[in-house]
Amino acid sequence: MPDRAQIEDWKAEWKAAGLAIRRAREARQDHGGRPADEVKRLREQAAETAAYCADCFTPLAPNQSVTLVSRVIEHVPAAYSGIDTFVPPHDIVRAVPICLTCWLSSMPNRSPSSLETRRLRCEGCGRPLRVESKPYRHLPLHQRCCCAACLLTSKRRHNYERRGVRDADEALLHRW
Ligand SMILES: [Zn+2]
Ligand SMILES: [Zn+2]
Repeated sequence: MPDRAQIEDWKAEWKAAGLAIRRAREARQDHGGRPADEVKRLREQAAETAAYCADCFTPLAPNQSVTLVSRVIEHVPAAYSGIDTFVPPHDIVRAVPICLTCWLSSMPNRSPSSLETRRLRCEGCGRPLRVESKPYRHLPLHQRCCCAACLLTSKRRHNYERRGVRDADEALLHRW
């Protein structure tokens, strides 16, 4: 006879398995029947280069406006790794660009919040960008760029500009 604790363990396992299946089914319905690994690949590409909208996966034109949102890239189920280390189930979330249509159609599902939509231009490629943030909050560089590639470009430019200024100051010092 299994004891009470054993039965509770099993129940928890069944629940977790049911949850994983339900989430996979919901994800498939949300993404037009695409399997989870394809959604993951497309969303990762969207986060890297903003070539696609991360919700409807239609290609984005270089000057098309986007909204930066957080999306689950992958749901990682609970697992034992290495020597008795239990890793609880978790979601891998990334900031991804979505198109205007997807942003507008996601509106009714969102809870009302104190966030407002800030409008700016991507510091990498200059496309119009919408970011949800508190109005008084300073936006860090990664929220001012539409994708990882643009973030890298603008980081390099910022570094170059900083170094350029410092070089000029040093040159002045040496002259005197
Ligand atoms: Zn879209
Ligand atoms: Zn960009």
